[in-house]
Amino acid sequence: MLNTADNTPELQKFMAYLNSRHLRKTPERFEILRKVLECNGHFDADILSHKLEETGYHVSKATIYSTLELLCASGLVRKLLFDTHQARYEMAEQTHTHLVCTMCGEIREVNLDIIDTCISAALFEGFSPAYVSTCIYGICDKCREKTDSRIKGDSRSAEQ
Ligand SMILES: [Zn+2]
Ligand SMILES: [Zn+2]
Repeated sequence: MLNTADNTPELQKFMAYLNSRHLRKTPERFEILRKVLECNGHFDADILSHKLEETGYHVSKATIYSTLELLCASGLVRKLLFDTHQARYEMAEQTHTHLVCTMCGEIREVNLDIIDTCISAALFEGFSPAYVSTCIYGICDKCREKTDSRIKGDSRSAEQ
């Protein structure tokens, strides 16, 4: 059950969603949302599982995943599918572009107002956009340096 100290708008919204669908309001579901609220930026099921274990909650991965699905359905959380990693999630109020490194999977967030402006002006027949999640794929500086030094190493050995 919720106590008043926990009564954040997010917990209330989740409660209302579960009520409206006649879904069970289990303590685990709310504890998972509390851990989600502690996360800054992106998170995945492993991070949540670790945070839950730290505070003595033993929640199965299946429960974490099914609760994340409910949180997505309620509009609180967004699922992000980068093809470099297992599904990650973030709070739904965030709008930004993801810079994804295709070598190490590192993800950075940047704000590109021009993308928001373009999408909000666009109309799609037979489709109602809910949110925008953009990704730009490329190579981060760290990976570029590694690749550069490897290429230099190769050309040196070829000269010998
Ligand atoms: Zn990288
Ligand atoms: Zn993000």
